Amino acid sequence: MLRVGLTGGIGSGKSTVAQRLSSHGALVIDADALAREVVAPGGRGLAAIVERFGDAVLDDDGALNRPALGALVFADGGARRDLEAITHPLIAERTRELVAGAPPDAVVVHDVPLLVEKHYGPGYHLVVVVGAEEETRVKRLMQTRGMTEADARSRIAAQATDEQRRAAADVWLDNDGDKDALLAEVDDLWDARLVPFEENVRRGTRSQRSDQLTLVDPDPSWPAQAARLVERVRLAFGELALTVDHVGSTAVPGLVAKDVIDLQVGVRSLADADDEALVARLAAAGFPRSGGAAHDSSKDDAPWPKRFHASSDPGRPAHVHVREAGSAGWRWALMFRDWMRAVPEAREEYAAEKLRIAVSGATVREYADAKEPWFDAMDPRAEAWAARTGWEPARD
Ligand code: ADP
Repeated sequence: MLRVGLTGGIGSGKSTVAQRLSSHGALVIDADALAREVVAPGGRGLAAIVERFGDAVLDDDGALNRPALGALVFADGGARRDLEAITHPLIAERTRELVAGAPPDAVVVHDVPLLVEKHYGPGYHLVVVVGAEEETRVKRLMQTRGMTEADARSRIAAQATDEQRRAAADVWLDNDGDKDALLAEVDDLWDARLVPFEENVRRGTRSQRSDQLTLVDPDPSWPAQAARLVERVRLAFGELALTVDHVGSTAVPGLVAKDVIDLQVGVRSLADADDEALVARLAAAGFPRSGGAAHDSSKDDAPWPKRFHASSDPGRPAHVHVREAGSAGWRWALMFRDWMRAVPEAREEYAAEKLRIAVSGATVREYADAKEPWFDAMDPRAEAWAARTGWEPARD
């Protein structure tokens, strides 16, 4: 099962995307529809609301009078929190029921208008955001929902900004063009990413990649992409993660790299990393264990053990290196990254070395092996830099 969070500002085209995903076979859970369902007549939600707010929030036939309730909670933060304390657990319970009832191979799309505002993103395998310029959205809301311009603008202003949505989006579906263009983007997302991602998660397999090495120009969005993965990995590890960091070349602005986000998790001991429930949680979150006990080639003749997980997402290659916090291998990954960030000449040398190896048509494995002598040769310089600058690994 794959869990996808879908969101977008009002008038962006979110419902249009949800419908299209549904037509492909996704199970769409509409948070707004559930919010209405849990306060329907005869339900527990409505009884609790009447108990808290009185009969004045009911209309003549005993249904919830939304404008009346809205007026009560609009200006009163305490009342709003009371209302949410009633409805949110019921919505969450219904959501859990629907997810639990979904078939094992379902792509569950959770349509949540406030996903960004509530910071729900890390709980999904993937967050899809539908975006359109404010002017486009205002025009659509006026044309198709009969809103006044002022009403459309004030609703848009009350929601998250585009910048906040972009930060949360693993996938950004641009909907400034015509509807067919949007639907084509959705179709492609379904076929190329959601279906294979779901299959990988269900089977506990990582996404397969070509053996052939490809270096790409630095992507300025790598740190933001990594930040989202850090949160997911942190959620899956819970207390077992002492540190979670973006490491490797994609964590160094301006460095050519394989398009892979490397994360490092620091744990108390590798026994924690081997906790069966944790390994299962990571696989379910889309980061299955890959290989058994792994190790890094060390710089001090003692083995540097680690555990290794890789992403199931065919659209975002990512590796998770789990090392004992404070161990030599853990420290080296952070030091090397910080040295690369701080010293342009070192970065340029490393880029030149990468390109030199890459032109020989190396495979990913050959490339990794070929870099080792360079790392070994650089190690004293990195250590000297660390000693000179008083570098310490930053701890959370
Ligand atoms: P949301 O659910 O994000 O509020 P909808 O999917 O309901 O937005 O889209 C708002 C309105 O704009 C709908 O009437 C929809 O049919 C229309 N719409 C969506 N995308 C486009 C598009 N690319 N071009 C023209 N109209 C669109």
